[in-house]
Amino acid sequence: MTPVSIFAGRKLALFGLGGSGLATARALIAGGAEVAAFDDGQASRDKAAAEGIAIVELASADWSEFAALVLSPGVPLTHPQPHWTVQKAQAAGVEVIGDVELFFRERAKTCPDAPVVCITGTNGKSTTTALIAHVLKQAGRDVQMGGNIGTAVLALEPPAPERIHVIECSSYQIDLAPSLKPTVGIQMNLTPDHLDRHGSFEAYGAIKERLVTAADIAVVGVDDELSRQMARRRAASGRKLVKISGEQPLDEGVFAGITANQGQLDTRIVQVRDGKPRVVANLAGIGSLRGSHNAQNAAAAFAACFALGLSGDEIAAGFRSYPGLAHRMEELGRVGRIVFINDSKATNADSTEKALTSFRDIFWILGGKPKEGGIESLRRYFPNIARAYLIGEASDLFADTFDADGRVSYERCGTLAAALAAATRDAQAHRGAGEIAVLLSPACASFDQFPNFEVRGDAFRALVKALPGFTPYGAG
Ligand code: ADP
Repeated sequence: MTPVSIFAGRKLALFGLGGSGLATARALIAGGAEVAAFDDGQASRDKAAAEGIAIVELASADWSEFAALVLSPGVPLTHPQPHWTVQKAQAAGVEVIGDVELFFRERAKTCPDAPVVCITGTNGKSTTTALIAHVLKQAGRDVQMGGNIGTAVLALEPPAPERIHVIECSSYQIDLAPSLKPTVGIQMNLTPDHLDRHGSFEAYGAIKERLVTAADIAVVGVDDELSRQMARRRAASGRKLVKISGEQPLDEGVFAGITANQGQLDTRIVQVRDGKPRVVANLAGIGSLRGSHNAQNAAAAFAACFALGLSGDEIAAGFRSYPGLAHRMEELGRVGRIVFINDSKATNADSTEKALTSFRDIFWILGGKPKEGGIESLRRYFPNIARAYLIGEASDLFADTFDADGRVSYERCGTLAAALAAATRDAQAHRGAGEIAVLLSPACASFDQFPNFEVRGDAFRALVKALPGFTPYGAG
């Protein structure tokens, strides 16, 4: 835990008692602050109360007593309208902050030079965060990883001179962290998302840009227009900038070069310094970093780790042993030539697209609770589909798309277990020469059959592991 001492002896309001809210309350109390906490959910209040956190009806509290309101990132700060606690705080002149802000203020007080890497962007945050943490750990560094991924930031060990914090930041967390000041700040990419909470695409971009502006070293993706503009403004400021790209050569920075090599696509990470390009890593054969989206993630991770003093060889070695994140094109293992991929996190067509571009002979399990637009946007990848297996509520809708297109043979399987059995049977009988993939990439939410995408992916993993002849990923 990182005890937060900067509010010692003062009283704070805290709203939202989920995982990060609880961790924040504990850290504040450990640092000597008095916390008045609340949450709309009775179960969350009971859980906090059971460990001695004071539950206070903030609606009728005297707000002039509070030094700050600590808000969970899931609670609206500005849009669609400020939460009632935010309105109360503003009326009483009380500042509104989040857990990442508390972390940075505590670091400024106790260990201002402790290295911190912050990662944001619309997509690829978790992968890049986990990849950087892995590479640093493999190189023998003391690493703490958390924030929007896994462990809440204040539940991590405190900042220390030789300890590197790798923190994934959502736009909400940045919005609540005016003192954010990372050693390395990464902005991956920007596409419209969460606009209901930020008002507009520009407002959403402006929040992400704060991380770029505040960083000692900014690592900025230049594969979309708004991120390119951020890179240009950073360059104009004269402060340190490393541009990264997953798809185009750069005159300076780190990019992924994709070349055809004996029928296979090779992805090489190229670092350009003082105008001189050098191949620093090859992603070919790294199952956990397949696809051009992961090339962007690897380029960002390379830039960050290099900035922190690792050698190119150390970083390349870290890439090779990266295990990947669960549910994101996760290579579970093989039965003979068949590779089994769990991409349960792909809850919409955009995410599934990444998987469909990464394999050639695909036995595709899809369906669940459909999203607007269905899988219409994926038609151009249908030639990669050997056969499709439909599950859940979306079956009729997706069958209509396949029927209209005419190129994909499919069957309705109802459940995940039936779909896996059918796909495995067909993949084993398939004659193609190359790698064959049985892929769960549903392009749908899971809620019709599972509580969430993690449970869906875990169910798939358990079924795959039970297949006769199965060898897990990494086992030789
Ligand atoms: P985030 O934490 O930003 O949601 P993840 O690393 O968890 O991102 O990846 C979630 C999904 O987003 C992946 O399954 C993949 O489909 C897609 N994705 C990952 N990296 C990128 C990227 N650099 N650009 C575009 N899409 C990506």
